[in-house]
Amino acid sequence: MTLTASASGSELRVPQLIGGRWSVVDAAQHGDVFNPSKGTVLARVALTGAEEADAAVRAAQAALPGWAETPAVERARVMFAFREKIVAHYDELARLVTREHGKTHAEARAEVQRGLEMVEYACSVPALLAGDTFPQLANGVDGETNRHPVGVCVGITPYNFPHMVPLWMFPIALICGNTFILKPSEKVPLSAVRLGELLVESGVPDGVFNLVHGGKDMVDALLTHEGVNAVSFVGSTAIAKYVYTTATAHGKRVQSAGGAKNHLIIMPDADLDQAVKALAASAFGCAGQRCMAGSVALAAGGVGDALIERLVSHGRTIDTAPTDGNDAADMGPLINAAHRDRVAGYLDTAKNEGADVALDGREVEAGDAFLLGPCVVDQVTPDMSLWKDEIFGPVLSVVRTDDLEEAIAVGQRCPYGNGASIFTQSGHAAREFKRRFNAGMIGVNVGVPAPMAWLPFTGWNQSFFGDLHIQGTEGVHFYTRQKMTLTRWFASAAESHHDPVWKSGR
Ligand code: NAD
Repeated sequence: MTLTASASGSELRVPQLIGGRWSVVDAAQHGDVFNPSKGTVLARVALTGAEEADAAVRAAQAALPGWAETPAVERARVMFAFREKIVAHYDELARLVTREHGKTHAEARAEVQRGLEMVEYACSVPALLAGDTFPQLANGVDGETNRHPVGVCVGITPYNFPHMVPLWMFPIALICGNTFILKPSEKVPLSAVRLGELLVESGVPDGVFNLVHGGKDMVDALLTHEGVNAVSFVGSTAIAKYVYTTATAHGKRVQSAGGAKNHLIIMPDADLDQAVKALAASAFGCAGQRCMAGSVALAAGGVGDALIERLVSHGRTIDTAPTDGNDAADMGPLINAAHRDRVAGYLDTAKNEGADVALDGREVEAGDAFLLGPCVVDQVTPDMSLWKDEIFGPVLSVVRTDDLEEAIAVGQRCPYGNGASIFTQSGHAAREFKRRFNAGMIGVNVGVPAPMAWLPFTGWNQSFFGDLHIQGTEGVHFYTRQKMTLTRWFASAAESHHDPVWKSGR
């Protein structure tokens, strides 16, 4: 049973993959997968729980010894084949992201590209699995370390990157010799299913990669299952914290990435045209549904009026439109009607709390699509909801500060700590900001300082719970555990007259 085969009549039912077998489950509860451009239901997904979680864990456990013992270069050959499949289906995968998520075709292609780079990075990981040796660590004793798989790994992913975030996890886990269970967001499960199909076509053995669906019941069953060894999570802060505390209490290794509130500082000496373009792309790209989206512009030292004027006129040029079948749209819809209404509600909150809505995205003609145009809110202060809450939509709040010191102080009060950027031509201001701002990913004249596969995604504070981050060598270290071996060999009577190597020159 595959994604294509599981369409019955006009209703697509989302299949799961356990132990190499695709199947559609009749669960007590189902979720709707929307096409946000049309406001219609694309597919229905079974919200499964403990029974399916247990079956997936058993399949992953059964496949583990064979996969862990498979030489890393052979595991890499599966990844190389998977990479070729993604390249061959690049446009189809991007269109699927647009259909179930709503982001523009260009944004969806960028997402496929970032995911592809994770697979390419995974192909190179065998080079990182070699250990260290320390000959003659003590008299007659040699030491060595090497890396072993952790075991059965689980990945739980959010709706905003249906293709990329699963690829942050399973290619690295698999290349390190682990087996994997993916639980994608029930709002966007189709891209994950398609990736599963391509991975199976690439030759991954049965049970090495499994795919299950559901919400809280499924997540709880996986977090508490004694057969699960490691959990990777990406989603909102409240759930990230819950996943971290629950899974660690059950003895799992956990990396758990949460929500964000990213600040962008505009200094008086910034090139304002470039800064406004970068700010708009950061705040309104993917309709603001990115954990690295710019959410607060800190206008320093009197730059506020000019900034607002240009942001508003730039925002009016952004074509907000349905994206499915329309590659020309600049910005697409939000994920569903409830989320669009929640985000739009912040404009009323802003007015009630004393801020000034300079650009109101509700003026956009939405039709049946879950659209909201770019929104710019001026005169926001750090005691307002717009500054405190993660809005996760196309709303840019402008906070005016006297100078860089005050901007850094505002950031210090923020409980999150994903990304922050400065726009300036001063090396000194950039250096102060880089060293002192309270966030883990820093940009200098860069709107979205999100690293690619080779560097870790280093969120701080309430944006990350755990130790080893996703991506880069930290990701490899998360999915491996080290073994240290000390070896001493005693000479036999016949060997005991031999000189040490360095003495004889042999
Ligand atoms: P979410 O937290 O609602 O859902 C994420 C996952 O958790 C989903 O798979 C969902 O099924 C599951 N889940 C939801 N409620 C649950 C519950 N009560 N118990 C157990 N599991 C539950 O997040 P979302 O709305 O899908 O995604 C948007 C959020 O993700 C934003 O907060 C965004 O900032 C964050 N995000 C963070 C990063 C990062 O790297 N820090 C990256 C992307 C998205």
